[in-house]
Formats: sequence, C-alpha cells, structure tokens
Amino acid sequence: MLKIYNTLSRKVEEFAPISPPNVGLYICGPTVYDYFHIGNARTFIMADMIRRYLEYKGFKVKFVMNITDIDDKIIKKSVEEKISASEIARKYTEAFLEDLNRLKIKPATVYPKATEHMDDILKMIEILIDSTAAYNVNGNVFYDVSAFKSYGKLSGKKTDEIEAGARVEVMEEKKNPLDFALWKKSKEGEPSWKSKWGNGRPGWHIECSAMSCKHLGETFDIHAGGNDLIFPHHENEIAQSEVSNQKTFVKYWIHFGFLNINKEKMSKSLGNFFTARDVLAKYSAEAIRLLFAQAHYRGPIDFTDELLAASEKGLEKLTNLRDAIESALSKNKPGEVDPDFNLQSFEKRFNEALDDDINTSQAVAVIFDFVKEVNRKISEFENLNIDFYIKIKEFLIRTAGNVLGIINFDAEDVKSDSLLENNLIGLLIEIRQKAKKEKNFQLADEIRKKLEEYGVILKDTKDGTDYLKRN
Ligand code: AMP
Ligand code: ZN
Repeated sequence: MLKIYNTLSRKVEEFAPISPPNVGLYICGPTVYDYFHIGNARTFIMADMIRRYLEYKGFKVKFVMNITDIDDKIIKKSVEEKISASEIARKYTEAFLEDLNRLKIKPATVYPKATEHMDDILKMIEILIDSTAAYNVNGNVFYDVSAFKSYGKLSGKKTDEIEAGARVEVMEEKKNPLDFALWKKSKEGEPSWKSKWGNGRPGWHIECSAMSCKHLGETFDIHAGGNDLIFPHHENEIAQSEVSNQKTFVKYWIHFGFLNINKEKMSKSLGNFFTARDVLAKYSAEAIRLLFAQAHYRGPIDFTDELLAASEKGLEKLTNLRDAIESALSKNKPGEVDPDFNLQSFEKRFNEALDDDINTSQAVAVIFDFVKEVNRKISEFENLNIDFYIKIKEFLIRTAGNVLGIINFDAEDVKSDSLLENNLIGLLIEIRQKAKKEKNFQLADEIRKKLEEYGVILKDTKDGTDYLKRN
C-alpha cells in the first residue's frame, strides 16, 4: 500500500484515490518567459517519477501541467525584446516542451494554457464576487481573505502572523494586505481580455484554480509543486476553489524540496542558476534523474558539478550491465545454466521503498544491489540461459527504466521482452510468410497491420522478416 506525506495533514497517509484506478494529478507548470533552470527540473522530474510509479502500480493517471502564458514577467520580457507577449510565450513554451522531452519526462495528458481558459477564469471570479469573497476596486478584483475561515490551513500560517511579517504585495486598494489579485486592470498597450470589470488579465493563482477544476473536476487527488508554492500560491488556490465550489479542493498535497546552490535556493531572481538545457549539454538526462532520485523528494539537494559527474559515473554500472544483457541476447545461442536467482525479492524491495513515501533513494539502492548480484551470477557462470537474461532485462525496464527513467533500452532491443510473446510474434510471421506464398496477400497484410496496431513493426528483408517493438 502506497503511503505518501500530505502537506495538508502534515502526516504520511495511505494513498486512496477518489475513484480508483483513476488518479488526477496537477502540477504547477512554468511561466513561459525564459528557459527553465535545473531547480525547476527537479520538481518536474520528481512529479514525473511519482506519476510513473502510480502507473507501474496500475493507476490510470491524468497528469495536468499548466502553462502560465500571460504574466507580468512575460510582458516585461516582451518589452525588453520588442516582440509581442504571445510570441515570447510561444517561444518558451516550445523550449519548455523540448526540455521536458530531453529530461525523459513523460508528456502530460494536458498542458492547459491560461490564455485558452479565460471563460473558466472569468466564471470563477464572478462566482467569488457573487459570494462576496471578492471585490472590485476600479477594475482590479481582489480576493477577500477574511471570507475564508480556513485560510492558512495548508501552510499552517495564522493570518495575523502573516500580516506582521508579510511579504505580500501592498496595494492601497486592498482592504487587507493579504488579499490578492484575481483580475488585474491592464495598462495602455498591454495584452488584455474583456471582462465585466473592464479590460485586464487574470492573477496567477486563479489560473490554477480554474484550470485544475476544468480538467480534473472540483475535487481531485493530488496537487504538487515546489515548497515555495505552499504559500501563498497553493494557500490561495485552496481559498478560491473551496469558496467557489463549496467542496474540498484536493485530497493530497505533495511538495518538493529545493535544489540549492551553496545552501541557497536556485532561482531566477538570485541569478544563481543553470538552465536545464545547459546542464543537458554536459550530462545525460539519466544522470540528472539519478542524482535527484538519490535524495528524498522532500529534502533539499545542494547542487554541484561534482555530484552530477559522480552520478554519471555511477550510472556506468547500470549501462554496462545493459550492454552485457544486450550482447548475451544478441548471440542467439542460448546457454544452459539456470542460476538460482530470486528476482521477486528485488522487486518486492523496490516496491516497498517507493510505497514508503516515494523513497527513491532506497529504490535506487535496490537497483544497484540487483546489478551487483546479477554481475556476480554472470561472472560465476559462463553459460547462463536466455530466460535469465530476458527476466533481468524485463525487471530493469519495469523499474529503473519505466519508473525511475535512469536507463534506456532502445526500441530495437526490446525484442526479447518475453519468450512467449516473441514466440507468438514468430508464429504470426510464419503464417504471414505462408499466406504470401499462397498469394493470400489480404491475410498477409491483415497480420502486418494488426501487429502494427499492437506496436510490432515488421520489416521484410532479403533474409526473411524481422521486427521492431515500439516502446
Ligand atoms: P516557477 O517558474 O518559479 O513558478 O517554478 C516552476 C516550478 O519549479 C514550481 O513548482 C516551483 O516550486 C519549482 N521550483 C522553483 N525553484 C526551485 C528550486 N530551486 N528547486 C526545486 N523546485 C523549484
Ligand atoms: Zn499553480
């Protein structure tokens, strides 16, 4: 049973989704005004690992990652670069998706954009005004924090304490310094949308409330983000959503620790950052993922070049084993020795580690124990049978590959996934060959097309028919 720490209850809880096997997972995505840094990448990668583990456990995950494509920072950049705000957003959204792909982060089910959800955002603001939880002052609409009695329940902050030392935007128009903007009146020449309160654009917090509700419903399973978003962003999302929908917003809140540089949070504003693409120019995605997996997702990581280099080196143990497996499997000459190897015990330990509040560092330790044990068998016996190699390869694909994303077996190599599966494909190839000989091209074609639907691509060569499996 998976247990996970819930920021809201401040406890490790059993994970029980609202309507299993479905899981709704929302993560606050980027504001697209620049390339994202390796600190942001930590949050995105850890969310990806959680999603992958849920899928490994058989859940059907709807993974929603929003894109804030209108914001003060985007407008500022558009003025600096003398191109439109929408062009800035387009350029960096493209770069964002490219970088996610290079970091081996599985694509989200949806990437909702704020500018494409104006109606949903406006509707929610209207409901908040109607329920007197929001007020309009000369075209700026604010959320009235005093309308929500549980304000502070996520961060544990008490409103009077926040007011005392607050780092909240002070604006004369606000009734209370903690109130925050739902709709911002636009200045001359700024991008704007029409509303009942005049032309303007939405505040950041309301975007996430409206988009998560639209794509995951009024109450959903998991909301994730970096620690810095607990307050005020997520606190404000709860206040908006729970008042407008009159329902619990989210069941489990997951927050990721910071990636630091010299004990200081890596951030754009401090200038102490490396972009993910710069890091990817020197190190593999797998090494980056391994480094992050070796720490607990809630704790900090102090980022250094040396750590990444060590991670790249550590990865060699895994890639060497992969190459040994591939080489043994490509020989096509099965050995005879069936070693005594308890693969299930490794898989059990791998599961237990991740079930324990996503303890990826323990899961990584299990993988490296596994590698050590397999290497011992390989050096002990010269002639291990093919089944052994197939099983250890399948294990690595399922765990280190599909869940942690720290090893990659090429599509061509996945051929020997399972003996039975391969035998069945072989049988279909034979039947197709026979059909072709008998000039039954319709049947031959049907077999090819059907296999293709299942992800098996046949390749006719002069020596016969070969095949590839799509991952
Ligand atoms: P931002 O574009 O600043 O809103 O950040 C996008 C995501 O990255 C958010 O979930 C942040 O919490 C997260 N994030 C920002 N800086 C860091 C950092 N140094 N370490 C880990 N996560 C971060
Ligand atoms: Zn958000």
